[in-house]
Amino acid sequence: GSPLQWSDPELAAFIEEEGRRQSNNIELIASENFASPSVREAQGSLLTNKYAEGYPGKRWYGGCEVVDKVEQLAIDRVLKLFGGEHANVQPHSGSQANMAVYFSVLKPGDTILTMDLSHGGHLTHGHRANFSGKLYNVVHYGVSQESEAIDYDALEKLAMEVKPNMITAGASAYSRTIDFERMAKIARACGAYLFVDMAHIAGLVAGGQHPNPVPHADFVASTTHKSLRGPRGGFIICKEEYAKKIDAAVFPGMQGGPLMHVIAAKAACFGEALKPEFKDYAVQVVKNARAMSKKMTELGFRVVSNGTDNHVFMVDLRNKGINGADAQEALDRVGITVNKNAIPFDTGSPMKPSGIRIGTPAVTTRGMKEKDVEQVAEFIARALALHVGEQVCPNPEGFNQLKKEVSAFNRNFRLPH
Ligand code: PLP
Repeated sequence: GSPLQWSDPELAAFIEEEGRRQSNNIELIASENFASPSVREAQGSLLTNKYAEGYPGKRWYGGCEVVDKVEQLAIDRVLKLFGGEHANVQPHSGSQANMAVYFSVLKPGDTILTMDLSHGGHLTHGHRANFSGKLYNVVHYGVSQESEAIDYDALEKLAMEVKPNMITAGASAYSRTIDFERMAKIARACGAYLFVDMAHIAGLVAGGQHPNPVPHADFVASTTHKSLRGPRGGFIICKEEYAKKIDAAVFPGMQGGPLMHVIAAKAACFGEALKPEFKDYAVQVVKNARAMSKKMTELGFRVVSNGTDNHVFMVDLRNKGINGADAQEALDRVGITVNKNAIPFDTGSPMKPSGIRIGTPAVTTRGMKEKDVEQVAEFIARALALHVGEQVCPNPEGFNQLKKEVSAFNRNFRLPH
């Protein structure tokens, strides 16, 4: 057995159990993926032992000569991948990358103009319960009710009225290409910084399947673990003029020692994303999302904004008589993992929103192609049909039968090994 199996069989068994869950289930959570064995090897490495407060060449601790090379490699690769003048690869997460961007140039009470959370924005874009909503004066823009896509004219009008200090672009649940060039023009016209949070689409940007925000934005922040397929973590790219402020905002502003093992795994991830195969993956992620959303439409589902340009789409379930929470639960019962999600202008409640969010990065990593995700769409339709009207005593046999079919189908697709 492994060292953990010998020393702590209880914990090792939980990790094995989670491994079986990840292997057996169809993973459609838009922000998840399967990191490669190389990424996981770096993340699980002995670099976890090292303290390295500061930055390469300017540390507060001795013995940093090797980790300096690791961090510099991650910085060089991320700049090669996305372009840009300065990168900070130390944020422990996407939320902390965003926090550092806000802290670098804003004061408490400043105004940020951000995407409405119920239209697809993230908690760190000004939610009441998040630091961003507590520290700043938040004004939201959103999508138009007809197109369910960002209304740039309305955004421009609002920006000129509000005169925010910063405009935040980017989303957790938005299926259309974002026009960063237009947003940069709006930001310049109203005297705001443009901050792009590309966490969800970073892998598509790296693979050339979404326009790159780096040439247009003052600050770009991201996670590394979603479509980019790296370890859990964050990074920031900015113009040289903000380099010192960003670095100081990350350390000592909001973090202590960087996670050198995770930074090594980020370097591994950026290295993988620089390879030609990564582009094939990014192309397939988008093809799969398009094919699957089209199939869902054919099966009688209403897809928000009538389709997708990227890796994700939202399904409005109101015409099916089921809410997003119950749908998530029904799909869990057959081994298909999604999350409940608000849709724009939702008439449901936060705990029982009207939609679900479906993403294709993880199934694409497993090797699914268009015809496979169309099959998954059929499984989803069947699982949801089983649930409707039977909420008190759902049909256990129907679910069990479908679960068997789902798992037999899913065995055709292997996890990265
Ligand atoms: N930004 C966006 C757009 C996200 O969707 C997320 C995560 O869901 C984050 C930031 C935060 O990332 P993390 O969960 O690593 O804090």
